[in-house]
Amino acid sequence: MNQLDFQEEVTQFADVILPIPVPRLFTYRVPREFAGQIQIGARVIVQFGKTKIVTALVARVHTQPPKQYQAKYILEVLDETPLVTRWQLELFSWISEYYMCHIGEVMNVALPSGLKISSQSKVQYNPDFEHPDLLTAREKEIVEEIKAKQSLTYDELARFADVKNVYHLIKSLIGKRAIIVFEEVREKYSPKVVRKIRLTSFYADPENLKALIGQLEKSPKQLDILLEYLRYVPALRDPEKNTEGTPKSTFSRNDELSDSSLETLLKKGIFESFDVVVSRFAEDTGTIATMPTLSEPQQRAVQEVTQAFQEKDTVLLHGVTGAGKTEVYIHLIEQALESGSQVLYLLPEIALTTQIVIRLKKIFGERVGIYHSKFSDNERVEVWKGVLSGRFQFVIGVRSAIFLPFDSLGLIIVDEEHEASYKQYDPAPRYHARDSALVIARMQGAKVLLGSATPSIESFYHAQQGRYGLVQLKERFGNAALPAIELIDIRQARKNREMKGDFSGELLRQLEQNLEKKEQTILFQNRRGYSPYLTCDDCSWISKCDNCDVSLTYHQRDGELRCHYCGHKEHLPRTCPACGSTKIRTQGFGTEKLEEDLQLHFPAARIQRMDLDTTRSKTAFQQMITDFEQGETDMLVGTQMVSKGLDFDKVSLVAIFDADRMINFPDFRSTERSFQLLTQVSGRAGRRKERAGRVLIQTNNTQHPILAKIIHNDYEGFYAEEIEERQAYGYPPFTRIIRLTTRHLEQQTAQAAAQKLATLLLQKVGTDRVKGPESPLVERIRNQFLFDVLLKFERNLNLKAIKEFVKETIEEVVTTKEFKGISIVIDVDPV
Ligand code: ADP
Ligand code: ZN
Ligand code: ZN
Repeated sequence: MNQLDFQEEVTQFADVILPIPVPRLFTYRVPREFAGQIQIGARVIVQFGKTKIVTALVARVHTQPPKQYQAKYILEVLDETPLVTRWQLELFSWISEYYMCHIGEVMNVALPSGLKISSQSKVQYNPDFEHPDLLTAREKEIVEEIKAKQSLTYDELARFADVKNVYHLIKSLIGKRAIIVFEEVREKYSPKVVRKIRLTSFYADPENLKALIGQLEKSPKQLDILLEYLRYVPALRDPEKNTEGTPKSTFSRNDELSDSSLETLLKKGIFESFDVVVSRFAEDTGTIATMPTLSEPQQRAVQEVTQAFQEKDTVLLHGVTGAGKTEVYIHLIEQALESGSQVLYLLPEIALTTQIVIRLKKIFGERVGIYHSKFSDNERVEVWKGVLSGRFQFVIGVRSAIFLPFDSLGLIIVDEEHEASYKQYDPAPRYHARDSALVIARMQGAKVLLGSATPSIESFYHAQQGRYGLVQLKERFGNAALPAIELIDIRQARKNREMKGDFSGELLRQLEQNLEKKEQTILFQNRRGYSPYLTCDDCSWISKCDNCDVSLTYHQRDGELRCHYCGHKEHLPRTCPACGSTKIRTQGFGTEKLEEDLQLHFPAARIQRMDLDTTRSKTAFQQMITDFEQGETDMLVGTQMVSKGLDFDKVSLVAIFDADRMINFPDFRSTERSFQLLTQVSGRAGRRKERAGRVLIQTNNTQHPILAKIIHNDYEGFYAEEIEERQAYGYPPFTRIIRLTTRHLEQQTAQAAAQKLATLLLQKVGTDRVKGPESPLVERIRNQFLFDVLLKFERNLNLKAIKEFVKETIEEVVTTKEFKGISIVIDVDPV
């Protein structure tokens, strides 16, 4: 212990959340210099174990030393004021309890990585370092190096010092106050700064300025610059305008002469330069739009929602595709902001880069923060801090936006609330953003509006039960009609020899007509790549992944076979790997093949494909949307990406392939999913009154009841049947499910562990509540064998004690010797 700060009589302790999967908070000693100042919700740097230095979060401050261990000192306090609000800490606890994970895992996902240390974090020389005598000779050398280089990352430091345990070294150096660590953490967020120039106050005076112009006659370059400045900033007419100045870069032309003339003007004290911090989100969304005038049904919806909020905390807005739900949201958002509360608008991942953000930014301007997973760390940190400081009263974001430091939310909107992407699967916490939003709202006294054209069975059920308010918009905006949906019987078409590859004759005719009318078409096939597998005609070999129990998808453009589960890639084989035959061919079709075939049928058509492979960059996606919007594209082929929230004027035809696979997928949610997905894709057609929309669904099974519901846009009929099934078979919303999945390299071990888990659990919770073990649909991923054990509980049961027991049981299985290497994934409310 060194004699500088580490005094014996320190009595304050802080319980901190560590960013690692440990089941509890850890207690650290507060150094005397921070005593009485340390805030709940501040980040601190602490040592954990022998080697690790981590960013932790203060959850509690008290004076009770821990009983079981000697508390270590907090090394650094990073925030003077809380970075995380009390509500957030409560939310972290709730999520960790409800979703059965460690609170540190929640913190890890919640905090943008720009606010945490990593091996890229930097150390810096402490300019106030006072005790060089404390350093060892070796340490002196290292500190000199840091001083010389100004800063070093952990990695660089480890290389220079030639040590494995860089943390140890860092710890000693911070202890002696020789270095400041984690400069990157404190300041990893670097504000964006613009250098501006303006006239010094003397020359801002019109009289002096006129005189100056006269004097500069002899220096034409300088005069040019001055006159140009005055064009941007009319300081002669209005000296006040000068205060704001104009960016220096305005005058930079990569022309040495004018650059040096500007420098001269600065040197002479005619101009002065200064820096301003600007927003990374200063956007050119163009003119500020006014609030839209609502149609009568929309007005009624706003009133009904407002009224329902008097009695209920949550309201479901069920409005058909194209009803204009966004406008209803806009009015409610405005009301909430007016009353001084914060607003959070959640959207599924993909919809966010699109049109809606632009629409909202035009209306709400600077008050809006946007939180997206494709954003850089700097941008995420800027939004985080903007919410803390009150700059952003309104945030539009994806699921992780629920973790932002709000403290006075009045309204949370969950748009497309049925979307499965609101549930996070990996890594833990496996939380549902919609369900978590309800909890946040309860904590802060906010209201929640869930919106969808195809509500989840759960939400509609709650509305039916009166737990949520229900408001409906049954007509599209502006008298546009819902699209006419027709089925094409491809079994029949095959019999009549009317199939050309994957296209029926009827579909081809309609596609052609639409092209002639210069109207746009969307073609939906929920499978990317060229074909889902290859097969050999001679021996029935099928391309399969070495690491996973799935087929390898053929991607033609790259001439590769790829596993969509583990990323494994192989070259396309020339001959059958099993028998050497050359008769290998593709089987089935994905978007890539659809695009190719479509181009063969319609050589003149402008076709684009929108799927994961073509939209890896944010700009690619945006570009495709813009092209389509501006009529540069005739046909858009895509996966479910084309179904989400897109609003185009000229789409009059939507074609749907392979609906059957979706409908027949063996999962209790497949009917719900199919109804939602097919209705949403169909909803892209005919969104304007002038252009009626048609939808063609190719199917082998025209009699499937779900298709009739989709055709008649019969959500309620679909719901009535589905809810009956759910009740009969004991599925959510009548039960809650916890899915436990064992993973192991050995199939037997995975199975035995799952068996053990099931046996222990059913003794305690009852036989009918435990199902399995059984193999999931994909039995092996990344060489790990998987087995599921499903726990089903009645909805009204309090699961707190049960969850504790489940955790203990898992712990018991994981620590059993014969199951060495087993991991168990807990998924509460899996989707
Ligand atoms: P939804 O989200 O319900 O599918 P949108 O909110 O995208 O529907 O609205 C569908 C279309 O109708 C959009 O192009 C939108 O701009 C337009 N629209 C809806 N309400 C209004 C309104 N009150 N005034 C003008 N245009 C509107
Ligand atoms: Zn073969
Ligand atoms: Zn694989």
